[in-house]
Amino acid sequence: MVRWSQQLIPTLREAPAEAEIPSHQLMLRAGLIRKLSGGLYTFLPLGLRALHKVERIVREEMDRAGALEVLMPAMHPQEIWEQTGRFDVLKDVMFKIKDRQERNLVLGPTHEEIVTDLVAHEVQSYRQLPVNLYQIQTKFRDEIRPRFGLMRAKEFIMKDAYSFDMNLEGVEKSYQAMYRAYERIFKRAGLRTKVVEADTGAMGGSASHEFMVLADAGEDGIIECEACSYAANLERAEGVSRGERVFADAGQSTAVVATPNQRTMEDVSRFFKSPAVRLIKTLIYLADEKPVAALVPGDRDVNEIKLKRALKVVALVLADDATIAKVTHAPVGFAGPVGLTIPIIADEKLKGYRGAITGANQADAHLVNVDLARDAKIETWADISNANAGDGCPRCEKGNLVAKRGIEVGHVFKLGTKYSEALGAGYLDPEGQRKTAIMGCYGIGVTRTLQSVIEQSHDANGIVWPISIAPYQVEVLPINVAHAPTMEAALKIVAELEAAGFEVLFDDRDERPGVKFKDADLLGLPIRINVGEKGLAKGVLEIKLRHNGELRAVPPEQVLATVQACAEELRTGVAVL
Ligand SMILES: [Zn+2]
Repeated sequence: MVRWSQQLIPTLREAPAEAEIPSHQLMLRAGLIRKLSGGLYTFLPLGLRALHKVERIVREEMDRAGALEVLMPAMHPQEIWEQTGRFDVLKDVMFKIKDRQERNLVLGPTHEEIVTDLVAHEVQSYRQLPVNLYQIQTKFRDEIRPRFGLMRAKEFIMKDAYSFDMNLEGVEKSYQAMYRAYERIFKRAGLRTKVVEADTGAMGGSASHEFMVLADAGEDGIIECEACSYAANLERAEGVSRGERVFADAGQSTAVVATPNQRTMEDVSRFFKSPAVRLIKTLIYLADEKPVAALVPGDRDVNEIKLKRALKVVALVLADDATIAKVTHAPVGFAGPVGLTIPIIADEKLKGYRGAITGANQADAHLVNVDLARDAKIETWADISNANAGDGCPRCEKGNLVAKRGIEVGHVFKLGTKYSEALGAGYLDPEGQRKTAIMGCYGIGVTRTLQSVIEQSHDANGIVWPISIAPYQVEVLPINVAHAPTMEAALKIVAELEAAGFEVLFDDRDERPGVKFKDADLLGLPIRINVGEKGLAKGVLEIKLRHNGELRAVPPEQVLATVQACAEELRTGVAVL
């Protein structure tokens, strides 16, 4: 029997000031975790029980999907990261250490290199493929700003899986198997997720989806269609601009207008009394160290991931003031496409722009009546801007896009051969020909998933655990522990429940009922049984369901059957909590 008085459950009345979002506050208040220092947390007994349950669900579904569990080292030689060129990409987020022989080591933020090296050594023949290896392990990232508890920590637990296939058909199958496993995992953990199209970013691949938990505290922007199922990460989202493209005075020749000190989009928009959409924003970048001008409508931001992809470059940074002055012959704030001699890439939403306003490439001046096709030499047209809420849907074309916030809990990628080529993971096909394996990779933030459940499932009084991952399923709460018949009845029901396989937390503390009730709501175990003198006098115990506050008075001999029925309802309805 688990007695509260002998447990370590340090509940707090108030949320510590450092906790900004509900789930972080509740994990601290309910005594699930404690902070060691920024981005580093200890799991206390209740938090660890819930974490183990999430891990068990992940493990069961990965095994069911045919993936094989391994455990790779968290510490890696730096050279292996250099072999794929990713040391340069990730060196800022990696913790770098040296052993006593002065060898360079890193703490792994992810494991593509390590698993590919393993497969390169262990797989030789097509007979050994496909194979999907996964692990549940601690990862390390040197976050600039660790925050929100387990959401963005320096050390966290991930499930990462890597599939190796012979052909694109095989990769598609592995990808779909993982996609379906993820749907089951999150549903079983009691999470409602939204699947969005995602960018592959630093991973280098061709297709990917993210599993998002919609939440105001989410760090990811999501764009979704009101009318159809289109949803994408903001970094990836496409939107059909409904903004105007032909403005007043279109067709007239360009003219320079003095605009002293009007540098920002807001300044210029106010100065010309024109909406921002009429302005063309010109940004000078260094793409693989060569200057290039990127144009987007004035009411949008350049999406650097899209821009990088469109330019097919590795390094992309905004140009420094000296470079801007050199290529535009003007100080920062007055760049425009007309007359530029560096390559120009323009956002597709600018197609057909006439009567627009741009910088004039001279100090304190703008150019009006710009007809982009007529007046500028555009080398490339591409989607290089963020979608805005209110844009048309690129899929159904009827719906409007709306913006949401989300927490990424899972991510599936088709990786291609980037790692298998660099590290020599291949196989001999039936004809004896040497081929490169094609990879997919699949991550779930396990600790983040746990906190996301709380972010999505809580109320003003505390956590509302889905029964599948609650630290205990039932709390038995004797109202007055000094009253012998109360304790006798309470212990009897605890024994019955445990014999039937329930995990029970017994609040045997000699505290005021108000304190115990408040703590019970804060902890949020799904089913609670109050045992009190008044009820016993009437021959009943009280069963309270945390998720809807429903109370049932039940004779002691019917408690077990009622709890079993409630638990079954909660299990089957877990996704609608
Ligand atoms: Zn749509």
